Amino acid sequence: MTCKNCLEKPVINLINNNIKLCKKHFNKYFEKKVFKTIKDYKLIGKNDKVAVGLSGGKDSLTLLSLLLKLKNKIKIFDLEAIAIDEGIKGYRDKTLDNAIKYCGENNVRLNIFSYKEEFGNTLDNFLKKSSMKACSMCGPFRRYLLNKKSKELGFTKLATGHNLDDEAQTIMMNYFRRNLETSARLGPITGILKDKRFIKRIKPLYFLTEKEIATYAFLNNLINEFSECPHSSDSYRGDVRDFLNNFESKYPGTKHSIITSFIEILPLLKEHFKNTLELKNCKICDEPCSQEICQTCKIVEILKKR
Ligand SMILES: [Zn+2]
Ligand SMILES: [Zn+2]
Repeated sequence: MTCKNCLEKPVINLINNNIKLCKKHFNKYFEKKVFKTIKDYKLIGKNDKVAVGLSGGKDSLTLLSLLLKLKNKIKIFDLEAIAIDEGIKGYRDKTLDNAIKYCGENNVRLNIFSYKEEFGNTLDNFLKKSSMKACSMCGPFRRYLLNKKSKELGFTKLATGHNLDDEAQTIMMNYFRRNLETSARLGPITGILKDKRFIKRIKPLYFLTEKEIATYAFLNNLINEFSECPHSSDSYRGDVRDFLNNFESKYPGTKHSIITSFIEILPLLKEHFKNTLELKNCKICDEPCSQEICQTCKIVEILKKR
């Protein structure tokens, strides 16, 4: 059993188990795919100031390492990292250490913001006071801070480590919950609205699977252990993930098909929903939202009362 392109031992079987690649050729395949996504979808342009949303896990460290390579090669954009410390003991403190170490070694400026500083307490403590599900609180808080802080720091793009598995889950979740309008904002580059109040989000790892990214991150020493958020198991997303993984192992290629089909209909979705979302500014914080008060301020108000 050898690599498809040489006589070396393979490190991975790509989907359908018919392409086996050694470390060197897998790295080549992986990097080419990321750079092609950036080029095909025009994710980064001249004079862009790109922030990588860095959690310190495998996806975001892989993303940062590849954008660094690209930056050093084409030298047309700026690159920094932005990290959110939710305050999840035993998990985020560890991955943040990875992030700090990587940025220190590679001369990347890292901007860290915490729930404690910005919202008054850690996620762990908020959850003790509330019956809310972790992800329903954490999701809006994190998106809010990433958007607000990226704008304040003058970034033009926010790059996130979302991969093919994440996106396939989100697409299916939006179907299951009849949330198609939310899907119109997905894709390798986000937004149906050209609105300055939202930082443009780009997802260079869009067409790579979680397995491919984990393999890349381990092979290239970006991480040495796999850590998972302790709250992720009690989420709707966790159930959809397990369902898709089971389906994928029985019918290989399923996740790629979901993404390919979605990319085909995405322009129609964007066109269909382009006028439906009217954006206001939150009366409390002035960030963009669809109602009078944004989701984040609503949650903060509820938490204050406890
Ligand atoms: Zn090879
Ligand atoms: Zn608000």
